[in-house]
Amino acid sequence: MSSPHPVHDSVGGGGCSHSWTYVLSVNSDAPAGALRPTDSKPARRSLLRGALTGAAALGAGLAVGAAAPATAATNHRPRPTTPDEALRELAAGNARWRTFREKHPDETHRVRQELVSGQHPFAVVLGCIDSRVPPELVFDQGLGDLLTVRSAGEVLDEAVLGSVAYGVLELDIPLVLVLGHQSCGAVRAAVEAEESGEKLPAHIQYLADQIAPAIDHTTEGDARIDATIDANIRLVHDRLAAEPDLAAKVSAGELAIVGARYELTNQLVHRIA
Ligand SMILES: [Zn+2]
Repeated sequence: MSSPHPVHDSVGGGGCSHSWTYVLSVNSDAPAGALRPTDSKPARRSLLRGALTGAAALGAGLAVGAAAPATAATNHRPRPTTPDEALRELAAGNARWRTFREKHPDETHRVRQELVSGQHPFAVVLGCIDSRVPPELVFDQGLGDLLTVRSAGEVLDEAVLGSVAYGVLELDIPLVLVLGHQSCGAVRAAVEAEESGEKLPAHIQYLADQIAPAIDHTTEGDARIDATIDANIRLVHDRLAAEPDLAAKVSAGELAIVGARYELTNQLVHRIA
């Protein structure tokens, strides 16, 4: 396994030169400086925000005594509105997670009441179904923060594509993060199915078929599975990036599509594509 670079290291203090900002500017069609806030355009977003503000005022009225001061910070934390801001927030959350400094944001009574009137998530996370990689936990986010889409091996089908598109096109979310992970069972199954030539039961073969183009043929054993995990993240990333509606948003600087990998061993998320 290649040595992972943390996407951001503000908490860990490891001195890594990589940051989400830097990495984002490398792969984005537009230079980092060209990224502009997504809320400068869509009227729908303004409407959503207005509804949320109204609900926040109502929520404040419903807050009960002693609970209010302790939860005020999370209730009013700024929402990322650009790809860069969204990446920074995910990186910061992952840094909290892997150093056991979670804030568990956006779980309060007030937040739950605010969210009744609408949602305003700032990132789509397309991840694997693996029980060890729940996006809200590994990025230390709460209710209304992430639109999560999960399928085994983060495999795309029409329902998954439609779900991602809904987040980007209808909710104006500025970031899609494809999240693969170390020791992915779906990837292992696909590799082993190809090696054995045996069909997997029922609909599981569909998953293997989707992962198959990513299978690495330059390595063997666990190294092959590990390399295929990375290649599969890139495959899914590239397929999303080729979607015309999403590509147009990327070109306009309103969206970033990022491929990343979660390491079970140290809980670090680092960028792959
Ligand atoms: Zn997996």
